Amino acid sequence: MFSKVRSAAICGIESRIVSVEVDVANGLPQFSMVGFLNAQVREAQDRVRTAIKNSGYSLAPKKVTVNLAPADIRKSGPGFDLPIAVAVMASYGFFPGDMLERIFLAGELGLDGSIRGICGVLGMVLEARRAGCESCIIPEANVREGAVIQGIQVFGAGHLKEVVEHFISCRKLHIASINIEEMFSEMPVRTMPDFADIKGQHTVKRAAEIAAAGMHNLLISGTPGSGKTMIASRIPGILPLMDIEESLEVSKIHSVAGLLPSTGILRERPFRMPHHTVSPVALTGGGGVPRPGEISLAHRGVLYLDELPEFQKEALEILRQPLEEGEIRISRNSGQYVFPADFMLVASRNPCKCGYYPDRTRCHCHEHEVMRYLHKISRPLLDRIDLHAEAEQVQYEELVQESGEETTAQIRKRVLAAQSLQKIRYDGSRFRFNAELTAAELEHYCPMEDEVKAQLKHVYEQKRLTARSYHKVIKVARTIADLEGCEVIGLRHLGEAVYYRPADGLQ
Ligand SMILES: [Zn+2]
Repeated sequence: MFSKVRSAAICGIESRIVSVEVDVANGLPQFSMVGFLNAQVREAQDRVRTAIKNSGYSLAPKKVTVNLAPADIRKSGPGFDLPIAVAVMASYGFFPGDMLERIFLAGELGLDGSIRGICGVLGMVLEARRAGCESCIIPEANVREGAVIQGIQVFGAGHLKEVVEHFISCRKLHIASINIEEMFSEMPVRTMPDFADIKGQHTVKRAAEIAAAGMHNLLISGTPGSGKTMIASRIPGILPLMDIEESLEVSKIHSVAGLLPSTGILRERPFRMPHHTVSPVALTGGGGVPRPGEISLAHRGVLYLDELPEFQKEALEILRQPLEEGEIRISRNSGQYVFPADFMLVASRNPCKCGYYPDRTRCHCHEHEVMRYLHKISRPLLDRIDLHAEAEQVQYEELVQESGEETTAQIRKRVLAAQSLQKIRYDGSRFRFNAELTAAELEHYCPMEDEVKAQLKHVYEQKRLTARSYHKVIKVARTIADLEGCEVIGLRHLGEAVYYRPADGLQ
């Protein structure tokens, strides 16, 4: 007898529907599987047969053929175990095969018949709904990420026996449902650390606020222990919360990587902090079966590169394309994959290898060693960073002072106001944030007082800025004016923007 059921293969971060077809016929007993499968999928036959047996069902020796279609998609991962097992049992006549119509199945089987969680369920359920499936049965471990998709019935199952009984008897699986609109109407429990924990460091905190308001990339320099990482890790907290669409987009990427929290959906913007020994592939994504890298996991959030000069040159160079385009393209024999990678880059560096330059009581680095260390970051990468902030040693008085520091909530309020001004300004254009403005549009979107223009000329000559740095100063000034709710850029906005711009020779 023949039966089929739908499942899905993961291609990059997208899922594609795969039809699992099983035929059981009389003949020489064997179990064969075809359909462009990798080794992991081939192993399914042993797991499936043993899991069925250990669930208490016996299969007469027959000729079983399994085909996963279409044949042009490379199938990988253990998620086909459950659909194969269910289709095999339908073909053996345990229940009518037509019950499997409009049903989607995915899950890994243990030898005892238990169903284990798999990666990428959120995207699979989304694709199943698009393909017209009415319900899906997924591992209990993944049931929340499936249930955030509305408009399709989602059942979670922990054991193969439960799934079979769902079809042959009236003992149905539980429907899992999450009302996502309702969920998003409530503020999430915030797990991010708060800015109020950081004593002093007002210039760096202010730089973080400006960076968040205009989505500018930020570089923080300072001695070890000056709180660079503490500040960077708090930046996602001052960015606006993700809306439903953004949450689903980001959660889908984290689902493929198997990194979704138990809530099934991410509410806060991601903060990724790969170590400087990270390989280029782990940073950008890739591998035999391409998986999203750190830059895609930071999509719509913050990618923090601590000790930027210590990263492999090759890894940093690859960052240039995604920083420009908001996505990364990876070519493999099996096709081209596009991973979203629209993130805010926050980087930090020590002033020299030992970290204490120019404090000569502690730093014994030679001048040329200091320069070499700083020049390890390539010019094109530095060109994509709008704000440079210096973290200074916190004074004793600041350290022991009783709180009084601004909270994340207070800063976020200003960031939100500045971002909503940009939303209105760029409505209908190709821009979203000030950081995205190109030189040609600066004049149109950045009106300034006459004295500001005169001052800009002075700064340009005195600081010997390049054209690119000049444009960055204007963009940052635009954001500072937005934080104050001013449409026209004034002298104090420019002054502060210049403060965060080193002279070009000193970068
Ligand atoms: Zn040093």
